[in-house]
Amino acid sequence: MTSALFVSHTGEKGGAELFLTDIVKAGPQSWRACFLSGGAAVQDLAASGRPPVMLSAGEKMLSIRRDSSVGVLLRGAADVMAVAWQLSRRAKDYDVICANSQKALFVCALAAKLSGRPLVWILHDIVTDPAFSAVNRRASLAFARLFAKLVAVNSGETGRAFIEAGGEAEKVRIVYNGFDPARGELHDPGKAARLRAELGLGPAPLIGLFGRLSEWKGQHVFLEAVAAMEGVQAIIVGGALFGQEEYEASIRRQASRLGLDDRVRFLGFRSDVPELMAATDVVAHTSIVAEPFGRVVVEAMMCGRPVVATSGGGVTEIIRDGETGLLVPPGNAAALAAALGCILSHPALAQRLAQAGREDVSRRFSLEETCRAVSVLLSEAA
Ligand code: UDP
Repeated sequence: MTSALFVSHTGEKGGAELFLTDIVKAGPQSWRACFLSGGAAVQDLAASGRPPVMLSAGEKMLSIRRDSSVGVLLRGAADVMAVAWQLSRRAKDYDVICANSQKALFVCALAAKLSGRPLVWILHDIVTDPAFSAVNRRASLAFARLFAKLVAVNSGETGRAFIEAGGEAEKVRIVYNGFDPARGELHDPGKAARLRAELGLGPAPLIGLFGRLSEWKGQHVFLEAVAAMEGVQAIIVGGALFGQEEYEASIRRQASRLGLDDRVRFLGFRSDVPELMAATDVVAHTSIVAEPFGRVVVEAMMCGRPVVATSGGGVTEIIRDGETGLLVPPGNAAALAAALGCILSHPALAQRLAQAGREDVSRRFSLEETCRAVSVLLSEAA
């Protein structure tokens, strides 16, 4: 079995870090996570008996963002060198180094060179997204070209964007996120009613929206859609990760302005997402730009819930519109409200979509299959 060190710059639980914790927990002992700063993923892995390697990245490196200028990138370079040196010493114990984020790519590339280990970049982003500064995009593509042996992408769309931006097609391998199909057992009307009561929710149909609070995730569009619907209540689950506190404040103000304080509950970051999903009548996904993959979409389908999602990006590889869920155009609150209303008022349709969706994603996105794909990738890179 090829051993590997999987490196993320953050231990906060974004989708990329959840992918990492899932595969490390389910994979062989020779796979280990490494984080360059702390967060809930660190405790999660430690509690499951797979403690990650912790290295400290300097503040200047951590302040590099996807839209960073040349100056910020250069100031981060000294920190990158220092962490890369520490990492190279740890990397010698592994066959392959995997960079699980763009910031990690810069560090891992140098560490791979210093330690003589092959590098795999696990790409979780659509690099042509305008949210990435041109300099950031060029730098990561150059590093991928010069240092990465393979690039694992989380969807066909992510791969297409990488190639369109100048990445080498022959390095690309698709590795979808994987999930435990046992989530499908969670939907139980009795449990759902108890959880709703615990949350102080009423008997009205419940719509769930899951994901970190960020403008591109479209929580503001969701609020508009809920305001246009009568007799429904909603939960918004997720925290303002990665400096999005101002957006959170703005959508809380929006909810009050729209008179939704009694109908919409903000639950913050939760670690019981599957149970909460199972307690809803329908799950919405509202990203206004193409989602690279969309873990929450698969998770909701696996929990046997009907899903209305915005079309684009990886989501179109997950949902077949009208068969395993409904797709609506991004940023269109009226279309979202109409599709959610359609599911709530047609129980037979809701059940058909939920059942077909659950069967389809359980087959295509199991954690077992993902671990197998990662093993194949590592042996090819080694
Ligand atoms: N998530 C969570 N708690 C929350 C909100 C989200 O654990 O309160 C998880 C969610 O279950 C999913 C991940 O965060 O596994 C988000 O992944 P996704 O691909 O949807 O979005 P990303 O954050 O990667 O853009």
